Amino acid sequence: MSFGIDDLPIRDELRGKSPYGAPQLDVPVQLNTNENPYELPAELVARIAERVADAARTLNRYPDRDAVELRTELAAYLTRTGKHPVSRENVWAANGSNEVIQQLLQTFGGPGRTAIGFEPSYSMHALIARGTGTGWISGPRREDFRVDVEAAEQAIAENAPDVVFITSPNNPTGTAVEAETVLALYEAAQAAKPSLVIVDEAYVEFSHRDSLLPLIEGRPNLVISRTMSKAFGAAGLRLGYLAAHPAVVDAVQLVRLPYHLSAVTQATALAALEHTDTLLGYVEQLKAERDRLVAEVRAIGYEVTESDANFIQFGKFEDSHTAWQKILDQGVLVRDNGVPGWLRVTAGTPAENDAFLEAVRALKKEQH
Ligand code: PMP
Repeated sequence: MSFGIDDLPIRDELRGKSPYGAPQLDVPVQLNTNENPYELPAELVARIAERVADAARTLNRYPDRDAVELRTELAAYLTRTGKHPVSRENVWAANGSNEVIQQLLQTFGGPGRTAIGFEPSYSMHALIARGTGTGWISGPRREDFRVDVEAAEQAIAENAPDVVFITSPNNPTGTAVEAETVLALYEAAQAAKPSLVIVDEAYVEFSHRDSLLPLIEGRPNLVISRTMSKAFGAAGLRLGYLAAHPAVVDAVQLVRLPYHLSAVTQATALAALEHTDTLLGYVEQLKAERDRLVAEVRAIGYEVTESDANFIQFGKFEDSHTAWQKILDQGVLVRDNGVPGWLRVTAGTPAENDAFLEAVRALKKEQH
């Protein structure tokens, strides 16, 4: 046996674990990581080049540590689309919402503390918890993948976690969470501890429902987490952000690395925000494609979970891994998230979705 990770003096809780990551396979149709399928428009690419060139001249200096201009523009975007006014003091940004969540867990979780999520959900919540030494509690979900409010309240009361994750729309199921559910769980979490409640809205621009942003009003322990990776079609940029009471923004400064957001990242994100309307135009197309996928996959004879995201969860398969492989054999990469019986596919371009539907039709025929 060759020398490996477990021969190193790594932390005990990391022993035998695998890193997070979907397979990055070279396949014609890649619908496995909930990316936006559209490349950035030429005008935006030109604007990015311009702003980055500007930033490049002063790369001898550290970037704006507090990302003031960027946070101001993100606040303007949230105010415009979220039906609730927020200002720069309410907003914090980092390298992807994964880093936002990591900073929140470093601040509000950590050794001797716990976080709860209602699973199946975004598996990075548990992994970031582990990486920050935060204990993880797997809370329940109903058979239809909606949050079971009573069971969730009970789990919060029993465990008194320090952090509560609510993902809306949820990944990988696509399920949105009602405002009343968030309010009930927030109350339960405050009564039990009080604890920080993080609403992960990575996919909210694709939802039939409004953002839960207005709920931060008068609730200093509620955080909304967002990203430019999905709706803005900028997964490669690595830009996530949060909206919360200004005290939360002050608190995460205690753990953020100084100058964590590079000048290049800030310049690129600002250029993308200048083109918000164009980018949100793609969101409308993707929502229509998502709805088409739901209807057509059901017509083929599979079940589809109600989706408010840019992806759908479909099944049920006796063996979801074999089904995943058969779809892959036809040149279409979808995601097996380990939810028994179910697979997830991201809404792509109309042509990509047609290729996926063709593959699923063939799979159905074969199963009969
Ligand atoms: N939250 C959820 C629910 C996600 O699905 C993802 C990406 N898959 C993220 C957060 C992280 O996205 P990013 O770090 O690219 O902002």
